[in-house]
Amino acid sequence: MKTWLGLILAATLGVIAPAASAQNNWNKPTEPFHVIDNIYYVGTEGLGAYLFTGSKGHVLLDGATPEGAAIVSANIEKLGFKLSDVKILLNSHAHFDHSGGLAQLKAATGAKLYAMQGDVSALEGGFYLGSETNKTMSAPPVKVDHVLGDGEHVKLEDIDLIAHLTPGHSRGCTSWGTTASASGKDYEVLVFCSATVAANRITPPLQYEGIVQDYRATFAKAKTMRVDIPLAPHPEFFGLLQKAEKAKTDKSHNVFVDPAAFAPYIAQLEAVFETTLKQRTDAAKAAAQ
Ligand SMILES: [Zn+2]
Repeated sequence: MKTWLGLILAATLGVIAPAASAQNNWNKPTEPFHVIDNIYYVGTEGLGAYLFTGSKGHVLLDGATPEGAAIVSANIEKLGFKLSDVKILLNSHAHFDHSGGLAQLKAATGAKLYAMQGDVSALEGGFYLGSETNKTMSAPPVKVDHVLGDGEHVKLEDIDLIAHLTPGHSRGCTSWGTTASASGKDYEVLVFCSATVAANRITPPLQYEGIVQDYRATFAKAKTMRVDIPLAPHPEFFGLLQKAEKAKTDKSHNVFVDPAAFAPYIAQLEAVFETTLKQRTDAAKAAAQ
């Protein structure tokens, strides 16, 4: 299992090497698995994608990279679901490792893409907002059919997802919430977008106007959220593949129920963000002298 230190290092390394060098497990297949209720993991080994199934069609969250899209499609079919039953496509954030496969998946399913206002330009333009000329971070452009606002519900018969705007990592970074039931109990599920600094410039010239305030608003908002089942676009954030492995033998309870994980994770992200901001601000001051 990855340690917090590992996560901090990964986040810090992103500062040094922000280039979008694809990590070696991003385009590697992995077995799809059931999370809880109507929720399935259909991503690659390194990139999450989630299928919310319903009686009148399904909702797919995230498309991995352009290379990963075929893995996502294959995983949906491996679980016995039809691509043509995917009616709505969603995105955690408009970065090529989560949005790069959306154009292909849209064509393969015929689904409509719903996206948060702040990420529409990047999705439709196929660029990383604020780094438009950096082609290593570009993605195939994809048309947004419905623009979402903070707190909007996306409903499809028995599926009900809430779009929580948690900006910073991207301007329209969206954390998706829903309630899942198992064994007569309800659980709050959240696919937390991300709040790592990664390739973002958080000192001038800013990645986008207001980015620092956005990160801080996201940390404040995340602290108010109750999350019983934390999920993420990067499965290692909450050790999801390890949990899936454990679920094969441990049938006594749902191993994805992990209510103690979210708050400390957010606290660590916030600490890394503030430390990084201070270091970069100090470095910029020193350089200006
Ligand atoms: Zn990202």
